[in-house]
Amino acid sequence: MFGFAETPEWQQAAQEDVLIADVVFNLPLERPYSYAIPEPLRGRVQAGQRVLAPLGRSNRSVVGYCVGVRASEKGQRALKPISELLDGEPLLDPSMLELTRWIGERYLCGWGQVLDSVIPAGVRRKSGTREINAISLAEGSETEEVLKAPRLTRQQKSVLEILLKEARPLPAAELCERAGCGPGPVNTLRKRGLIVAERVRTEVAAAEQRDVEAQEDLLMNEQQVKALDQILRPIRVSEYETLLLHGVTGSGKTEVYIRAIREVVSYGRQAIVLVPEISLTPQTIRRFRSRFASVAVLHSHMTDAERHWQWQQIASGDIQVVVGARSAVFAPTPHLGLIVIDEEHEPSFKQDSTPRYHAREVARRRCQDEKVPLILGSATPTLESWLRAQRRLDTLVSMPNRVAGRPLPPVVIVDTRSDPRLARGFSLGRAMFTAIGSALKAKGQVILFLNLRGYSPVVWCRSCGTGLKCPNCDISMTWHRDKAAIVCHSCDYSTSPPPQCPSCQSPAIRFLGTGTQKLDEEVQKSFPEARVLRMDSDSMKKPGSHDEALDRFRRGEVDILLGTQMIAKGLDFPNVTLVGVIDADTMLRQPDLRAAERTFQLIAQVAGRTGRGERGGRVLVQTSKPDDPAVKFASKHDFLGFAQHELAERHDALAPPFTAVARVIFRGPDEQRTRQTAIAVAEKLKAARQGELQSLRVLGAAPAPVVRLRNLWRFHLQIVGKTHELVRELWTTVEKTLTLPEDVELAVDVDPMNAR
Ligand code: ADP
Ligand code: ZN
Ligand code: ZN
Repeated sequence: MFGFAETPEWQQAAQEDVLIADVVFNLPLERPYSYAIPEPLRGRVQAGQRVLAPLGRSNRSVVGYCVGVRASEKGQRALKPISELLDGEPLLDPSMLELTRWIGERYLCGWGQVLDSVIPAGVRRKSGTREINAISLAEGSETEEVLKAPRLTRQQKSVLEILLKEARPLPAAELCERAGCGPGPVNTLRKRGLIVAERVRTEVAAAEQRDVEAQEDLLMNEQQVKALDQILRPIRVSEYETLLLHGVTGSGKTEVYIRAIREVVSYGRQAIVLVPEISLTPQTIRRFRSRFASVAVLHSHMTDAERHWQWQQIASGDIQVVVGARSAVFAPTPHLGLIVIDEEHEPSFKQDSTPRYHAREVARRRCQDEKVPLILGSATPTLESWLRAQRRLDTLVSMPNRVAGRPLPPVVIVDTRSDPRLARGFSLGRAMFTAIGSALKAKGQVILFLNLRGYSPVVWCRSCGTGLKCPNCDISMTWHRDKAAIVCHSCDYSTSPPPQCPSCQSPAIRFLGTGTQKLDEEVQKSFPEARVLRMDSDSMKKPGSHDEALDRFRRGEVDILLGTQMIAKGLDFPNVTLVGVIDADTMLRQPDLRAAERTFQLIAQVAGRTGRGERGGRVLVQTSKPDDPAVKFASKHDFLGFAQHELAERHDALAPPFTAVARVIFRGPDEQRTRQTAIAVAEKLKAARQGELQSLRVLGAAPAPVVRLRNLWRFHLQIVGKTHELVRELWTTVEKTLTLPEDVELAVDVDPMNAR
């Protein structure tokens, strides 16, 4: 690969018994590059450390990860040497290193890309200080007004904008990095008194821990005891086994996790609990903190220094339980004993950028390697997990009943096509309106779910029928009345609504449909005496506001909680007697393989928010498709029926979980060139299907469902096969031969969850 005209000095020395380091870079490359380890670094370079090494024709020094050290083979060509060793100790142990290699292979991306994403920036940067300089806006400068201060440079302005947006103190280093500036602008702003800096201790986690009161174990019921027995078996013999804990909402799955973790901790081992980011609420955390002496929580909004500190604590073995979102699957526990994934059906366990891994599959692999069990918990398992359990690849553990014999709430389907109130433009149909009234009268609380934020999701010209789309994306603009702006929910582009239709110049622009803001308004008008709280990403911008809102609801200071997904997740409120789904159609309409599955999950999960107390509860679902199987099965709480029905459909469609899929997305500023590239690659793939690969299907190339996003055109193709190995073989064979135009980039998404 590297040819040299002259023979440099190091090359001569490199002839006899040289040690070689295999190095990977943050690039989509399949194989490691080999380098000679120069004399001064001998005995010091280890797998898992970062190095600087010359790369490519220019011989630019690039940071890479050493993934192996070995003796050179006889007759091997002399190699370029590593230029510098960056770490004293490996950042990862050999088994984690192997896990990252596997991720690159399984998800068709570079090993170095995986390492770069898995190792927290703070760990790489060694920001080990326990005190950091945190910058926040000075008192009196906390509003947009501050941007009007005289003589602000562009960078100063950008610093202020970031602080306004985040509304929390930011470490100086992070702030500068995000604003793309050095310390200068920050210092100037400080001198002008617009911002303040303070030294902050980062040992937040330890402080929080002390506030939680220890709690006794609950007395488990028979169903929980039986489930735990099944889980303890592989724990006791240190064996890998995946257990699918299928327990209806409110069946007491958490207590089972806790007991299983207790067993693991008693052996001096650690457990990792993965929860969806949005469920990382104080309520969840308290449940674990009250039962274990040392719990580490990995939030996505931790600073680099905090993350580094946590990483070290975990690696030292002092932590018993790690609770965190997706990336906590990489927590460097020295003696892992168990991984639990709660709400395993949540799409957020799949990463949406390279490496596009699914935490469940990574956890499965890690548990296999480390010979420990994996528990997947859900009331609505994914069909992937369900099929594995059906095929006895994994063990099914069932908890079909709620604790204390509480029934699941009755679910009533309301047909929106014949509702007189909906016909008059309201969003609360007659049944919904009446049910809210009676729930409030009986002093019960109400949750209303609507999956669209903003005021109106459609901006439409009544004269010519044109819907207004974002200029950068192929996506409808949403009217946000509070900001008097139309906003693109994909790229955040926002502008005032045009006085005239851009196509026909008619002034007849109308806002159609209902988002959470409009629903909020209608609910307040309809029930003026009720205290209403809206929860969506617009109203919950400030960190902590989400938790605060849930606390207020729990304390009974709010009667009606309405919002998006945010309120559908694992919350336990005994006083909720009514849950309303305002529009189940929004999910069903998605052009997505999993639309039915998501609709079922959503209804079952929101239904799980009620009937948890002694007062019982019920669920109303408004839909124009009352006969849709997903809606019907959900209304009967019939997961098994739904799974059977949907699996049959997927089987007939040769779709996952019966097949493995890799989606290849092409992006570029030029429509024609992007399209042509996608088509050419699809043709190459089709032509390369020889021998065993003949069974593979290549679908497309075709425009992606969102054909333009952030000013880039998007085309995609899909490789569908019986196994991931076959799909990988076809892709890697063809990928090697590809040369893309400079302005077209491609992304590979294995097991895609996002159909955009
Ligand atoms: P799931 O996660 O399965 O939806 P949770 O673990 O949240 O259910 O449990 C639901 C509620 O039941 C919680 O308030 C929990 O404290 C309570 N609970 C769980 N197990 C028991 C038990 N054995 N006895 C009494 N209450 C229990
Ligand atoms: Zn028009
Ligand atoms: Zn946009």
